[in-house]
Amino acid sequence: MKALVYTAPLEMSFLDQPEPSAKENESIIEVEAVGICGSDMHAYQGHDARRVPPLVLGHEVCGRIIEGPDVGSRVILNPLITCGYCHYCQTGRFNICSNRTMIGMNRPGGYAERVAIPNQCLVSIPDEMNPVLAALTEPAATGLHSLVLADRALMRPVDECRALVIGAGSVGLLTALLLAHRGCRQIEIAERNPLRRQPAEQENIGRVYDPIDEVTDNDVFDLVIDCVGGEKTRQLAMAAIAPGGVFVHVGLMDNNNGFDARKITLAEITVIGAYTYTTADLASAAEKLHHGAYGELQWIQTRPLSAGSAAFAELLQGEIAAPKVVLLPGS
Ligand SMILES: [Zn+2]
Ligand SMILES: [Zn+2]
Repeated sequence: MKALVYTAPLEMSFLDQPEPSAKENESIIEVEAVGICGSDMHAYQGHDARRVPPLVLGHEVCGRIIEGPDVGSRVILNPLITCGYCHYCQTGRFNICSNRTMIGMNRPGGYAERVAIPNQCLVSIPDEMNPVLAALTEPAATGLHSLVLADRALMRPVDECRALVIGAGSVGLLTALLLAHRGCRQIEIAERNPLRRQPAEQENIGRVYDPIDEVTDNDVFDLVIDCVGGEKTRQLAMAAIAPGGVFVHVGLMDNNNGFDARKITLAEITVIGAYTYTTADLASAAEKLHHGAYGELQWIQTRPLSAGSAAFAELLQGEIAAPKVVLLPGS
């Protein structure tokens, strides 16, 4: 089969690869659509020690089962493979499983015509669901999971909150769209990249601005979701959040300063780390995507898998405005 292989830093090669073989309790999926994630970009630049070339990346997969117990069904994949027996799995917190591995990291991913995956990772989708939309389930579920955690900590329902989302990549934008769908009364989106602001502005759900050039209101947002996770964005979040507010930290850009311990204490800020999603979050996100909760998502760009190498290069150069590029092995 053909696959897009990460062969060296800054090098993606469209190559013949051996067919995947299903081990016990695994299925083979014919890939219909697979998104390019920020973490794939990170790996492509040689910045992820866990993703060692040569490796087939890609974990935002929609496809059809061609071998396994449920042949013919259409699915999206939970790329996280969890053990089921550790303390975290047994208490339902699968996303922080101590023994988790991942497709596109510890084993071949979805930038291929076919991929093998444990049956426990399969999430059914309706037979008529648009595969390109379904490939956005993973970033949508990341945002949805952050709201699931925020809901538990907010004193008032989300529709009564003022929310700031930092970063208008796919996770940030999908999170903001879900907030809008839930009736959040004020949404602002902070994004430095003017190309990235365009699709966010077109969604017309609230103010979209450059936090360097324009002023962020301080001490007013009941909910701040940082989908960048850098020192500067944490500083922005800490200043913007209202006393008693909830700050959800999603992005993983750097690990340095930016938290304001005095404000966290004196203003009783709840700080929550949100990592990926559970299978329940993925199922919920797929359902919402299919039923239009996120709108049309006309900003999604598609490319044939065979042209994936150029897509990576253009994304790296910042030449693509689309918050999400989806690769199609069948075209
Ligand atoms: Zn992803
Ligand atoms: Zn586990």
